[in-house]
Amino acid sequence: MTDFTSLGLAEPLLRALAQEGYATPTPIQAQAIPLVLSGRDLLGIAQTGTGKTAAFALPLLHHLADRKAPAPRGGCRALILSPTRELASQIHDNIRAYGRFLGLSSTVIFGGVGARPQVQALSRGVDVLVATPGRLLDHVQTGAARLQGVEILVLDEADQMLDRGFWPAIRKLTGLMSKNRQTLFFSATMPTEIARIADELLKDPAKVSVTPVASTAERVEQRLIHIDASQKRVLLAELLRDSAIGRALVFARTKHGADRVAKHLVAEGINAHAIHGDRSQGQRERALAEFRNGRAPILVATDIASRGIDVDGVTHVFQFDLPDTPEAYVHRIGRTARAGASGEAIAFCAPDEVVKLKAVEKLIAMKIPAEDRRSPAARAEAEAAQPKKQPPRGRGPRPQGAGASARPQGAGPSARPQGPARRGGRGMPPAAAGARKDRNWRDGDFRDSSR
Ligand code: AMP
Repeated sequence: MTDFTSLGLAEPLLRALAQEGYATPTPIQAQAIPLVLSGRDLLGIAQTGTGKTAAFALPLLHHLADRKAPAPRGGCRALILSPTRELASQIHDNIRAYGRFLGLSSTVIFGGVGARPQVQALSRGVDVLVATPGRLLDHVQTGAARLQGVEILVLDEADQMLDRGFWPAIRKLTGLMSKNRQTLFFSATMPTEIARIADELLKDPAKVSVTPVASTAERVEQRLIHIDASQKRVLLAELLRDSAIGRALVFARTKHGADRVAKHLVAEGINAHAIHGDRSQGQRERALAEFRNGRAPILVATDIASRGIDVDGVTHVFQFDLPDTPEAYVHRIGRTARAGASGEAIAFCAPDEVVKLKAVEKLIAMKIPAEDRRSPAARAEAEAAQPKKQPPRGRGPRPQGAGASARPQGAGPSARPQGPARRGGRGMPPAAAGARKDRNWRDGDFRDSSR
């Protein structure tokens, strides 16, 4: 098995990794580190939880230490762009941890806090700058930041950058940088638009891809509970009290929803905080600190706020609401089972979320073991709302007589819910996900057969 020594990293980095307790590189690290050390541009498909931060941070630090040069005044030698301030802070923490024996300088800048200390830090110049694009562009426009000296650029979570509308800012920023830089580009997914942007920014990139969506889903023990919307909060409190929970992330679809859930839990005597975009920086930091140190081991988050919450030992992920996009389901469950550990993910599904559930099950190519805790009335309503199955390929022969229409064609016993009885057990389902072929790099080509 590869170890960090064989990847060619400098000794002070190896010492720092030993202190961090990293014994073996994760697959993305084993693939990406030698390629980045060789100086190539890189296109990486990897989600949070795969160890992607170290995959770019370690070779980046190695380069800076190896080719010592003064940091340019008002600028930086390596720039890491991140879509959220939480992720930026966490990347910066990692940079400091991995680089602790190298004597390099670094700083992090993002919006929502005072600009002056950032301007001061920039004026001296830093070796590594971690930034969100909007605030960095502000500094560029006031003349406080200069990007001509960037030797290495990292774009992390490019798909989130696109979702959050950062591309115009990033284009402006990259337009100011030297073409001779090395660029590393990471994204959890590779829709056409991201592939096009990657093409624009990268020169003959090496491509690495790990943990396709389905394999995260395979590692995590998943359960689904059909439940009335009005009963979700009661059920959540019950499960949080009963289960052997170390740290749990609870996902809500909206900021309001996250607040309401956290309030309910606190009223039930369960220590929880909500974290979302409307919370102040101080509130977020306190929530994260208490989540980390175990004082409030339950964190209720929206998808965006949860990105970049880099806390190991999340034992449970609850999806209080199913997300609008099925990919988000996979990102969420990936918050447990980090760096190879295993975890449990429990999703609630109200009657009006069944369509979202179907989309998730299609994406992960498996049926999530489910139990039914709906009220009889909700169950009957949901079943009545089930679309009647059409005969296959439209115009089959019309049923003859009343009895023939009672059962739609093509609906075998497993094709429809089995009524009120529990469907499926609690254990891991068979590894059905092996059949998935999409979202994998093959011969340098990205294929997404789900579209
Ligand atoms: P990331 O995908 O970069 O967010 O990393 C996920 C988590 O895995 C972080 O908490 C890292 O500290 C941890 N991690 C990264 N690489 C390793 C490794 N080689 N061994 C053990 N833990 C790791």
